Formats: sequence, C-alpha cells, structure tokens
Amino acid sequence: MTFHTFLIKYGEIGIKGKNRYLFEDALVNQIKFALKDVDGEFDVYKTQGRIYVDCSEFYDYEEAVESLQRVFGIVGICPVVRLKDQGFDQLKADVVAYMDEMYEDKKKTFKVEARRSRKNYPKNSMEINCDLGEVILDAFPEIRVDVHHPDILLNVEIREDIYLYSQIIPGPGGMPIGTNGKAMLLLSGGIDSPVAGYMVSRRGVGLEATYFHAPPYTSERAKQKVVDLAKLVSKYAGPIKLHIVNFTDIQLYIYDKCPHDELTIIMRRYMMKIAEHFAKEDECLGLITGESIGQVASQTMQSLLVTNEVCTLPVYRPLIGMDKSDIVKISEKIDTYETSILPFEDCCTIFVAKHPVTRPNLKRIIKSEENLEEKIDELYAEAIHTVETIVVS
Ligand code: ATP
Ligand code: MG
Repeated sequence: MTFHTFLIKYGEIGIKGKNRYLFEDALVNQIKFALKDVDGEFDVYKTQGRIYVDCSEFYDYEEAVESLQRVFGIVGICPVVRLKDQGFDQLKADVVAYMDEMYEDKKKTFKVEARRSRKNYPKNSMEINCDLGEVILDAFPEIRVDVHHPDILLNVEIREDIYLYSQIIPGPGGMPIGTNGKAMLLLSGGIDSPVAGYMVSRRGVGLEATYFHAPPYTSERAKQKVVDLAKLVSKYAGPIKLHIVNFTDIQLYIYDKCPHDELTIIMRRYMMKIAEHFAKEDECLGLITGESIGQVASQTMQSLLVTNEVCTLPVYRPLIGMDKSDIVKISEKIDTYETSILPFEDCCTIFVAKHPVTRPNLKRIIKSEENLEEKIDELYAEAIHTVETIVVS
C-alpha cells in the first residue's frame, strides 16, 4: 500500500487559545527536523486544527514512521491514502481496494466514519457511511459491521482530495520540544543521565548538556561515547549544545587537599557549580541529573542534600524514585543502553575512595573545601575558560 500523507494526532488536554498555536507550531517544527534526513520530500503543515505531512512520490515509509515516533507531542500517526475525487462510484471501488489490501484477514468488524470539510459534496456524511458500508459488506462476505467497538474504523474525509485511513500508529506522547524552555543535563557516559535527559525533554524542554572528563585519566573514547549518547538523545530532544569540561586539575587538587572519603561528594559539588555556570550563561531554567535515591554512596538523601546545596537553579532528577531495572528498560527503549554499557572509564570512578562517606555532613564538607581556597578559583575559571563546546544532532 502506498501512503501519500500522514495525519498527525496530538492531544495534550489543556492546551487552549494562544498555547495551542505555540504547541502546534513547535510540533510542526519538530516534525520537519525529525524528517530532514529521511529519504524523500515532506511537506509539513497545519490546517483546520490538524497537522498533515504530505510525502513525495518516493520516500522511505519505515524510516519516516520511525522518525515521527520520536517526535514528542505526537500521540498517533495515521498513514493516509489520498485520492483524487473522481465521483462516488470510483470512491466505492477505491474503498473496497483499500480494505482488501490493508486487511488480509477479513474476519473483522468495521465501521465507516465519513467527514466532509467540503460541503458541496453530493452526499452527506450519513449517506457516505451507509453507501460505503454496504459496498464493503457486499465485497467481503466475512466482514461485519460494529458501530460501537469496530476492529477497523475506516475514516473517509472529503476534502479537496479524499483521504482514507484506518490505522493509528502510536507516537511517544509528551509535549513538543521548545514549548517549555531549556535545561542543562549533566551527561555522563552511564545509563542514567541519558534517560533523565529523555524524560525531561519529553515534557517539551530543550536540552543542553555538560560532560566532565579527566584526560589523560579518561580516554578520548570515553569522551566519544558521551558525544554518541548526546547524539542518540538528540534524536528525541533536537540539537544539543554539549559543553565538554576538562576536570582533571580540579579533581587532582581535591584529591591532594581533601579527605579521600569526601572526594566524590566535593567533586560533585564542583560539577554542579560549573554546569550551573553554563546553564545560566545560556538561559537554561534548571539542571537535570540521573540521580536516584540510594543508588550509590553519592546518592543517599544526605549526599543529595549536600550536593544540592551549591545550586541556585532547580535541579530536576526525573529518576529519583526509580529502580535501576526500570531505568534500564527505558534506556533500551530509547536505544542508549548499548552505548551506555561500553566499558570506558568515568572521571568519577578514577579518583573514587574505597569507602566514600554515605552520610556526609554539610558543615564538615564546607570545612574540607576551605583547604581548596588557595587555588580553586583559578582552577574553576580555567575549567570554564577551556571548555570545548559542540552542537550535536
Ligand atoms: P550515570 O549512569 O548517569 O552515569 P551513575 O549511576 O553513574 O549515573 P553518578 O556517577 O553518581 O551516578 O552520577 C550521578 C549523576 O551525576 C549522573 O546521572 C549525571 O547526571 C551526573 N554525572 C556524573 N558524572 C558525570 C560526568 N562525568 N559528567 C557529567 N555529569 C556527570
Ligand atoms: Mg556515572
């Protein structure tokens, strides 16, 4: 079957008035972005409260559907057969051919649902429903009508052309990127942070990301892995500005000056501060991390309290109450899992203590940080100054 158009279904309740326009315009933009590398040409537009994607004569159907299934805000994708209006007899024949090709097994129930946006059509919706229902019943002896719960709801829309569709492919839901500002994701090479970014962006939030590496203790391959992860997340979230921060000197300095069981927590405080610096510079409205309560020593309630204390922006932790197995499921679904589990060293694990504190005390941590006073401002400024920024898409 050749489909000429996709009808895009979207439906966040509560988007009214001006918000509705913003939502629809953002959705149109995101659909264009998602289809830009798909084989074929696509015309995306909205009309009469609906969004359509018209496809060129030849295009990659599978790839187009896959790409649309990653656009937040889409609830359903209906592949449409578009026919020129050549009279009602021709429509009858076309509808029978459509049903025949779409449904090999005819032991099904159906209902025709006609809509006219062109009122000069010689039959009204009721008549179209009855007449087309009748030819379908005549053509396929096994098929039955069920007006309440049909297996197949055949939509017939009389516009300039005639649109036939009966299939709804599920979309990802959520809100289109760009309708809810932007946030800064602390992106490591692990399983959790890409999932955290995905979950917040699903609510319409655009992403930037910050990655801390520690060359030569962490390799070029570890960095490439994070770039690859950003690329995978950007398939959903749109282009991501990625800030790659050289964290080596700060880490070595902390290692040198502070109690080793407090290394991780102090390091994480500096990560948050630096990420927040870039966030504010680019007008991000919050930070995002992949933290989940109790997962590791640096994610106990006490540790989170101490880490959080350096931030002035809100910190969003969408995985906070989730078990690892559930996070893994999402990472498999969004296709980041295989990349996340590649075995490259992470800057946090290299300097990690054998027995990190699990109940850090804020006063004591602040006291330990006083040991850093001599050089930390300079190193902090240097880390910001030497950042490498790339846009990943
Ligand atoms: P992940 O799987 O996301 O790496 P994790 O379970 O390894 O998480 P931690 O290492 O404690 O947990 O990191 C907690 C969060 O801190 C991460 O989810 C991420 O948001 C941030 N983070 C950790 N390391 C880095 C890093 N090198 N660069 C940027 N952010 C980081
Ligand atoms: Mg990690």
